[in-house]
Amino acid sequence: MLRHKPVSILVCRALVLMLVAILGLSSCSSVKLFVNGGEKQVKREPRPPAPGPYVLIFAFDGAGYDQLMAAIASGKAPAMAGMLGKDEGGGLYEHAYSAPNAVSILPSTTVAAWSAIFTGAPPAQNGVTGNEWFVREDMKFFAPVPVSVAEMDDNHAMITDNLVGRQLKVPTLFQQAGVRSSVSMNMVYRGADYFTIIDPTDMVSLFTEFVAGKDKHSSGKRDIYQQMDEDSVPKLLDSMKAHGVPNIQVVYFPGIDLYTHLAPDPLPMETAYLENVTDPLVGKILDAYRTYGILDQTYIVVIADHGHTPVLKDPRHALGANSSDGPEGVVEAAGFRPRKFVLNPGKDEQDYQAVFAYQGAIAYVYLADRSTCPNPGTTCDWKRPPRYKEDVLPVARAFYWANKRGRPVQLMKDTLDLVFARVPTPPGQLTNEYEIFDGHRLVPIWEYLMLHPRPDLIQLNRRMRWLSAGPYGNRAGDILLLSKSGLDKQIQERYYFSAPYHSWHGSASIQDSHIPLIVARKDYPGARLKELVDGIGGSEPSQLALVPIVRSLLVSERPAVAAAPVKPGSDQSGKPAAKSQ
Ligand SMILES: [Zn+2]
Repeated sequence: MLRHKPVSILVCRALVLMLVAILGLSSCSSVKLFVNGGEKQVKREPRPPAPGPYVLIFAFDGAGYDQLMAAIASGKAPAMAGMLGKDEGGGLYEHAYSAPNAVSILPSTTVAAWSAIFTGAPPAQNGVTGNEWFVREDMKFFAPVPVSVAEMDDNHAMITDNLVGRQLKVPTLFQQAGVRSSVSMNMVYRGADYFTIIDPTDMVSLFTEFVAGKDKHSSGKRDIYQQMDEDSVPKLLDSMKAHGVPNIQVVYFPGIDLYTHLAPDPLPMETAYLENVTDPLVGKILDAYRTYGILDQTYIVVIADHGHTPVLKDPRHALGANSSDGPEGVVEAAGFRPRKFVLNPGKDEQDYQAVFAYQGAIAYVYLADRSTCPNPGTTCDWKRPPRYKEDVLPVARAFYWANKRGRPVQLMKDTLDLVFARVPTPPGQLTNEYEIFDGHRLVPIWEYLMLHPRPDLIQLNRRMRWLSAGPYGNRAGDILLLSKSGLDKQIQERYYFSAPYHSWHGSASIQDSHIPLIVARKDYPGARLKELVDGIGGSEPSQLALVPIVRSLLVSERPAVAAAPVKPGSDQSGKPAAKSQ
């Protein structure tokens, strides 16, 4: 049987894909959106300029907590270190607070994480559950950052046609805050006044080099990613010059993530990138605010979508490298017709009964009610949920035993950490939370963890609920596979759903999940910033705190009356806790 390989040429590299999107514009009418130096006016009537305070958000794609903090502490990132001031311990700095234990949502993967960050709502509420996902009631597969498919159409639409914004079911930060906003590069820009992006013509040669020279770049050259991040800065500064400084400015650097996926020694090389590439760019933007005379009226926020875990770049560990040897073979042996790994299957390829969407360490499996489509050539009624006993359980069992015994698919042996499933609900109804399949039955996550403590899976119950329970919880599949991952495992024991790379993420491990969340302001007491962040984020802050933090900063006291004496906040340090309900 010949099936398409899930060719993931590029992975969580939102912006390299953007290059494709932009290049694709040459014959498209939307090219006019970008002729003005890479700026797109998103709102028909931009909001008028307003006085401070300003919020400048540095959005670092793929910058893990330890890697970023190592860069800041190294003495080789003077712009960021200067912005924070003296380290007073426990995350407190002279002019900043860096939450020591902030976590990502699940999956710890780019498009889902930025969607949660810039809406304040978790995936099951906001509707964007991954880099790719399936909307069963429409039989529509979305892949704004393709992992299991090769087509770039959705990536193109992510840039030119607000694909992610259109799929979000809740308002973005820019809509909620209602102030003049500008976004550089990030895929969540709905409701902002301006969106700036690298100039397409400048990027032609870079893109060509990336595709042609992938192996060369996988040896650790970083020029192409560096250039992408660097080129984005003049675009946003030009926009600022033309329209004034917006109250919210998002500065998104995708190069960090792209580079780390392909770097042979990912974690130290990421830290070096943050020092040598990212930090000077941060310095340049802070200089602009200084020149405008508003740096002391500006809150600076730093956040990331996820960290990175080194993996082996080979088809044994890349479970999406050759589909028929991997998860696809398991559902097929369980009696399901899998969907082809393409963005839009042909007219005669609509009879699928199982759909995969890959997120690195996590894979979603969507199942049809097979009674609606028993024979090849018939299209299933995807508006109906799968049947629990006849459709969901057989697949949960098949993956459980494939993992235990390596049958019927040898490649799957000992690759999975956990298999999640749940009793399905019809589309449009609130979904049930995922539970853990223990080989016999579904066990609630909290109950499973009481019997089998897993401190290595950070806040698993809470974050799986965010992903799976809600109006759009069925966009995370009917079965969820979590591969073995984490720095506490040997690298040869880590697996991921995609083509081969040097590094991946998506899991619930601390390395993938622990993110920086920093708020800083020039000449402002860090203790006061700590109070604000702690007051909103609580004892277990997450990406969902970004929107309320920014909104709170925007209505904070005006800078001239800012620096009243403050009592130091209570000392709190330590990494994200595993336990949370
Ligand atoms: Zn990312």
